[in-house]
Amino acid sequence: MKPTGRGRWIACCPAHEDKHPSLAIRETDDGKVLVHDFGGCSVYDVLFSVGLQVQDLFPPSPGPREILRTAKMPFSYADALRCISFEALLAATAACNLGNGVALGDKDRARLLQASTRINHALEVCGCR
Ligand SMILES: [Zn+2]
Repeated sequence: MKPTGRGRWIACCPAHEDKHPSLAIRETDDGKVLVHDFGGCSVYDVLFSVGLQVQDLFPPSPGPREILRTAKMPFSYADALRCISFEALLAATAACNLGNGVALGDKDRARLLQASTRINHALEVCGCR
């Protein structure tokens, strides 16, 4: 887990094999903990993998659903970029390989599609879509 600012961290997601940190974590001033996996895991997957529940992220009141609705852009653009920067590197590497005549296998193609999905997902989270 690496701090990215006051009350903000990025970490490897415990719910999927995550070699490049894709999990953004933010603690708000009123004691809420917000998590978002730019790798695509749901909050529930992330919490379940470490034995926590959604209510563990919130102080006793008000209700979690209400807070989730009002938190429109809980993470900074910088956090989102940090979490998905590896996806751009991956695409660049694939492009270089193709340029050098190295063919992409099925697994590489699938991973490139996943990179695209992750970048699009990050745009949605940041309210750009
Ligand atoms: Zn994940």
